Amino acid sequence: MKPDFASQFDALALAPRYDIDVTYDAEEQVLNGAASIVLYNTTEDPWRQLVFRLYPALEHYGSGITMQGAAVNGRSTPFDYATGRTVVRLNLAEPLEKGQRAEVRLTWTAAIPRWTDGDAVYALYGTSQQITSLPLFYPSLAVYQPGATLGAGRWWTDTGSIRGDAAFNYASLFVVTATLPAEQVPVTSGTLVSSTLVEGGQARHVWVTGPSREFLLHMSPLFQSAYTETYGTRVTSYWLPQHEAAGRAALTYAVAALRIYSDRFGPYPYRDLRVAPAPINFRGMEYPQAILLGTQLYGRFRENLEVLVAHEVAHQWWYLMVHNDPVNEPWLDEALAEYSMKIYMEELRGQGSVNRLINERWQLPWNLLKGRQADIRVHQPVAEFADGSQYETIIYGKGALFYTELRKQLGDRHFFRFLSHYLEAHRYGIVDTTTWQAELAALQNPAIDALFVEWITAPGVNSFDGAPRQPEN
Ligand SMILES: [Zn+2]
Repeated sequence: MKPDFASQFDALALAPRYDIDVTYDAEEQVLNGAASIVLYNTTEDPWRQLVFRLYPALEHYGSGITMQGAAVNGRSTPFDYATGRTVVRLNLAEPLEKGQRAEVRLTWTAAIPRWTDGDAVYALYGTSQQITSLPLFYPSLAVYQPGATLGAGRWWTDTGSIRGDAAFNYASLFVVTATLPAEQVPVTSGTLVSSTLVEGGQARHVWVTGPSREFLLHMSPLFQSAYTETYGTRVTSYWLPQHEAAGRAALTYAVAALRIYSDRFGPYPYRDLRVAPAPINFRGMEYPQAILLGTQLYGRFRENLEVLVAHEVAHQWWYLMVHNDPVNEPWLDEALAEYSMKIYMEELRGQGSVNRLINERWQLPWNLLKGRQADIRVHQPVAEFADGSQYETIIYGKGALFYTELRKQLGDRHFFRFLSHYLEAHRYGIVDTTTWQAELAALQNPAIDALFVEWITAPGVNSFDGAPRQPEN
């Protein structure tokens, strides 16, 4: 983290600490990993198991992790898989009581899938177009959600829908050592501490992070890069050789977004921010201190590159710093990241661009949905949406339009005070819709409650008149 923000670690004394060591065997397309994870039971319930997510086994990622061994506090510990091998449960000999510490040692192997190389491929995890993306390549401690009564809590093991994001994690601290083929240019979370050439044409890199939801390992032998220092952060953009102009443009967009959001929401506390292409067609994806953009955004969909950078950089505030369940309450981070694009555009591009953003990206798709009697409630799980188009139009479009209404009613001063207070109060924490509402209620503006119901919790506009819904065809 930047030196001025080191004191933020004080609040993280009980955050999980991962010390991960992985080797990428390029011939076998396998990752061999070992980790020591120090964690505390921060809940009231005793934990009889420790539950880790194996995210690569999700449909989103299309691979898996095979556990080799597990030990807790030096004792070998039996484990089993659950939920389609997206979960591994360590069965403890004695429960971990409230406040107690455990040191977990895990070893595993993970196959790295190879996908086809066309730039239309969407691969969050694995190798395509000579780019290897490895988010969550290690067992990640599940979030424990307390229940209504003592002992009624549960480990969050939802698998979500391929339409939306799936990773839900505590803010954690990472030290990651990765031994990679030396020609690979890594793009990661955190800050690089050292790189050393080792035998067999490999290089060993070490990174450390500030509070992060996960650690991204992403790489290509093709990446070229440039960086700019801004507000004490090094922003680095990577690109494929044929996309240099777009790669340099992405750097200027990311720098601008970082400055605008730091001024408006609250400072970005990390030393690094990285932007890189990935085999995710024309889409973007957020990770801690790193955003990935589909290779098509550097080429055929170049006109969307700027707004996508603006959206994904905003996730450093709304996802990384303030985190929520992305499967059951996706509106919390997505609507705000999407709305943040408007803040970016009005600072940099003027009213014409802002109006185009609102009308073409948000209002028009929503109008079409209403015309098809397919407008539905914003606040609901990803799985409730009929398809990707309805999901994006409602969560991103209608969600962002809600924020434009909210800002109109509150006025700029109160609106930005709400956002900066929301960040300040929940930085490195996990929020839900109730938390969000409580922050809003602190502004004591009764008209806002009606606005929230109308836009976020009420059924879609097509049902307001009580007319029977037309059958869809
Ligand atoms: Zn997003």
